[in-house]
Amino acid sequence: MPANDILIVEDEPAIRAMVAMALERADFAVREAGDVPAAERAIADRRPDLILLDWMLPGTSGIELARRLRRDEYTRDVPILMLTARAEEDDRVRGLDVGCDDYLTKPFSPRELVARIKALLRRSGQDDATLVVGSLRLDTLAHRVSANGAPVELGPTEYRLLHFFMAHPERVYSRAQLLDMVWGRGAYVEERTVDVHIRRLRKALETHQCDHLVQTVRGAGYRFSAQA
Ligand code: CA
Repeated sequence: MPANDILIVEDEPAIRAMVAMALERADFAVREAGDVPAAERAIADRRPDLILLDWMLPGTSGIELARRLRRDEYTRDVPILMLTARAEEDDRVRGLDVGCDDYLTKPFSPRELVARIKALLRRSGQDDATLVVGSLRLDTLAHRVSANGAPVELGPTEYRLLHFFMAHPERVYSRAQLLDMVWGRGAYVEERTVDVHIRRLRKALETHQCDHLVQTVRGAGYRFSAQA
C-alpha cells in the first residue's frame, strides 16, 4: 500500500525540513507547502491523508485554511493537526472549533508528532488494514481484494474506486464527487470516465456475484451498498 500522504503547511523552512525528515523516517510520504495558496494547489492535486497545519502563516492564516477545508466536501474528512506557537486555551478552543482534530504546541519532539499523526490516522480509520462489505474483503496493506475467499482481479483505477466505495458505503456520490475523491481535483477527466471504470469494476465483481454492490442511483450517481 502506498505510504500515507501527509501535507505539511508551514512557512518556516527550518521547522518544515525538521518535520519532513521526521515523517519520512516514520515512512510517511511527505509534501510541503509554505503558504495557503501553495497548500490549496497541493490539495487540489491530490487529497492528502492528513494535513499538518501551522497556525501563523504569511497572508491567509492556518485557521482560515482549516475553516475552508471543513466547508468543502472534498476535504471535510481529512484530519488536520494544527501546529501552534500559542498555548493559550482560547486559541486551542478556536482551532478545535473550526474543525482541527488535534493540535500540538511548538516546540514539540518529532516522536510526539509522529505518535499524534498515527493516532489521528487510526481514529479516522485510514490505517484499517482490511475493509469488509458483504462477501468482499479489501486488504489495503497487500492491495488485494477477495470475494468469498477467491481473489478479485482489478486494474489500479478500479481498485482505488472500490477502496473509496468500501470506505464510504451506503452513501450516494455524484460522478463529479467520485472524480474529486478518487481521481483528485487536479485530474482533468470527463465525468463519463467514471462510468467507464464503474462498468469495469462491475464486470470484475460480476464473476463473483458481487456486482449488485455497485448501485446506480438515477439522476444522482452511484452508491456502494450491501443492501438491495
Ligand atoms: Ca509560522
